[in-house]
Parts: sequence; C-alpha cells; structure tokens
Amino acid sequence: MADLVQTDVAVIGAGIAGCIAALALAPTCRVLLVDRQAEPPPRIGECLPPAARRILEALGLSETLTGPNSPHQCSLGMQSYWGSSHCHINDHLRNPDGAGYHLDRAAFEGFLRARAEAAGAVFLRPATFQKAETEDDGLRLHLLRGGGNSAVEQRVHTRYVIDAGGRTAPFAKRLPGSRIHLDRLTACWATIPNRDPRKMGLILAAQNGWWYSAPLPNGRRVLAYQSDSDLINSSLHREPAAFLDLAGREPVLAELTDSVQTDLVLHGMVAAGSSRLPTAAGAAWAAVGDAACAFDPLSSQGMFHAMATAMQLGDLLKASRRLTHPNAENTAWVQQQYRAQIERVWQGYQTHRLLFYGMERRFCHAPFWQRRHATVSFMEKKG
Ligand SMILES: Cc1cc2nc3c(=O)[nH]c(=O)nc-3n(C[C@H](O)[C@H](O)[C@H](O)COP(=O)(O)OP(=O)(O)OC[C@H]3O[C@@H](n4cnc5c(N)ncnc54)[C@H](O)[C@@H]3O)c2cc1C
Repeated sequence: MADLVQTDVAVIGAGIAGCIAALALAPTCRVLLVDRQAEPPPRIGECLPPAARRILEALGLSETLTGPNSPHQCSLGMQSYWGSSHCHINDHLRNPDGAGYHLDRAAFEGFLRARAEAAGAVFLRPATFQKAETEDDGLRLHLLRGGGNSAVEQRVHTRYVIDAGGRTAPFAKRLPGSRIHLDRLTACWATIPNRDPRKMGLILAAQNGWWYSAPLPNGRRVLAYQSDSDLINSSLHREPAAFLDLAGREPVLAELTDSVQTDLVLHGMVAAGSSRLPTAAGAAWAAVGDAACAFDPLSSQGMFHAMATAMQLGDLLKASRRLTHPNAENTAWVQQQYRAQIERVWQGYQTHRLLFYGMERRFCHAPFWQRRHATVSFMEKKG
C-alpha cells in the first residue's frame, strides 16, 4: 500500500471535464487528477462546437485549435437530412464564435492533460477510483494505482471530490438514488477513407434511428448509426457487410461508401443516450460533464457542456473558498448554486431534444420515433 496522499480536491477522470476542472482550480489549491487510462483512448470523431472556443480562450488554451501544428480540422457546419430528403445546411459563417472543429480527440485530451499537470495538478495514471469513506474533515478515497499484478492500493484524503468519470459517474453512482435515463440510445461507429472534399458533418434521419458522418483530421471519415439498444442489430458492430448494407439503403451514404467498402473499419458500440444523476452535488462532491448529465450526440453539445460545467463549478468553489476555508455556509452555497445551474441546463436540453426529434415526422409510426415524440415526463423513468 502506498503512502496516504493529502489534497484539497480530487478530480476523478481526466477526460475533457476533469482536465478543465483541474486547470481552473490548480492555481488556487492542491488538485489531484486521477484516470484509469494511462493515455487517452481512441474515440469517435467528434465535432467541437464554435462556442467551446470561448472557454479555451479564457484558459489560454485556444492555440491547440488554431496553432500552425494543430492536429484538428476546421468544421464549416452541418449538412442535415432531417424532416425531409432535401439537404439543409447549417453553416458557421455567421456564427460570432467562428468555425467548429473536427477533433483529433486523443490529441486534444493529451494536450489538456499536459496543461493540467503544467498548471500544478498532481496526475495519477493509471489509477482507478474504487470506493470512498466519509471522514470528519472530508473523504478518504481508495484507488488502485498501476496495472496488472503491480497494481497497489493508494489512499487519498481530500476535502472535496469532483466526479468527472463520464457516463458511469464512478463516485456518484455509489450514492443513494439511481441515474435517470430518458432513452437507451446506442451508437455503432465505423471509419472509411474520406473521398469527399466537403469540410462539413452530416446528419440523416432513417427509419429506426439516424446517421452521423464527418471528416476526420487523419484523412478518414467517421460513419455512425444511432438507434435504441433494443432496435439495433446487435452484431452490427462486428459485421462490416451488415453495416454497409444498412448505410447503403440511404443514397446519400451510399455515395460515401460505394468505392471504399473493403476499407471500412468497425470500431464498436457505445452508449449515447440522454441521462443524468438524480442530484449533481452533495456537501463534499459534485459531478461535471457526462457524469452530471449526458446528452444525445444529436445535440453536439457534450464537449461544450463538459467544459462549461467544469468552469462553472470551478468558479463557485473559488468564489466561496469552499476548498481552502470550508464551513457550513460556503458548503451549502456551492451545493445549492451548482444544483440549480445543472437543473437549468437539463431543462433547456430536454426542450431542445423534443424540438429536434419532433421536426422529423416521416417515420412517425416507427418505434424509434414514436418514443421520441412522446412527452418527456411520460418517457422519463429511472434506470
Ligand atoms: C457517439 C457519440 C458521439 C458524440 N459526438 C459528439 C460531438 O460531435 N460533439 C460533442 O461535443 N460531443 C459529442 N459526444 C459527447 C462527448 O463525447 C462527451 O460529452 C464528452 O466526452 C464528455 O466528457 P467527460 O470528460 O465528461 O467524460 P469522458 O470523456 O467520458 O471522460 C471520463 C474519464 O473518466 C475516466 N474514468 C472513468 N471511470 C474511472 C474510474 N473509476 N477511475 C478513474 N478514472 C475513471 C475515463 O477513463 C475517462 O478518461 C458524443 C458522444 C457519443 C457517445
């Protein structure tokens, strides 16, 4: 067993939300950042919305997008086949924040991790959070540090925990009350060589789900099919022929896949549904990013939300001095303010989710669309 580590705040998860929280807090207190993955894992090619640039600028990080060696590719907007078979273009030309970016996600997270360490955060990796116990002046965390047979138990004493562990919310899921799920959306994704010169993403509504495609900075193109876990062919992520057959039923996608069929690489299935914790903060903890609430990829807001919630929580913790001078008053204030902020975000998100799915009426007798055309309050159920 390794020596006890003392810190003011332990951030569990060094994805986008965890790194931004660590970066925001490291100048004012002791921050411990923990991730079970030594290096950022490969992820589906994602599009960073233009507004995210504001947060990166506030933290002095925007050169990762615009610098001469940037590994990311500018995104000019989205082609949308939604509600009709005609293409509707939502471009970023009039967006005051400029263009979006097709990210090299592993490079982006690697950059944020390095910056968090340079700002003073102590980074343990690989280190997996296992459990926590409440103590008089904070929490005792138990981590498993290192991999395989050489893994050792690491104990941490902290005044506060930030759960930035993504959809599984590794810290908060141990607390009473289960996660709330609006649906069981699942994404099956593949990559193909990109022969299309357009620097735009694409969404396309289909009979029992919808498609997403976008160019990747490495010369390939991502192709992802979203449907509910009980409606999707469970071997779609293992059978290239089945995936190509489904894509080929859409003429717009057939154009992209026709000449590159043998170069299709299937990457797997991932959870993509809308879900949230019953409460986003307690006296000595708060959840940020997907851990607090996870959005449907249709919104394209997940990464912005991860950054924004981490910044909002960081601002509340700094303004209240909750981490360095904890008392009953600042503890209650942070908890109440942050819960209210997350509640507002979730209410707004639900309204937009209904609106967007409501715009597609061509397949309204198919179960996928019927579920989304019902009211949220009817659909909301405990997971
Ligand atoms: C199919 C799909 C497409 C998407 N497309 C887009 C898009 O185009 N644009 C967009 O903005 N968003 C998109 N998103 C959403 C986006 O990926 C997420 O919102 C974002 O990654 C959330 O970041 P996070 O830091 O909260 O969580 P994550 O990125 O999930 O990071 C969590 C971290 O916690 C670590 N961790 C987990 N458990 C433990 C543990 N027990 N101990 C230690 N570490 C742990 C993990 O290793 C990981 O590094 C998409 C999502 C999906 C599923």
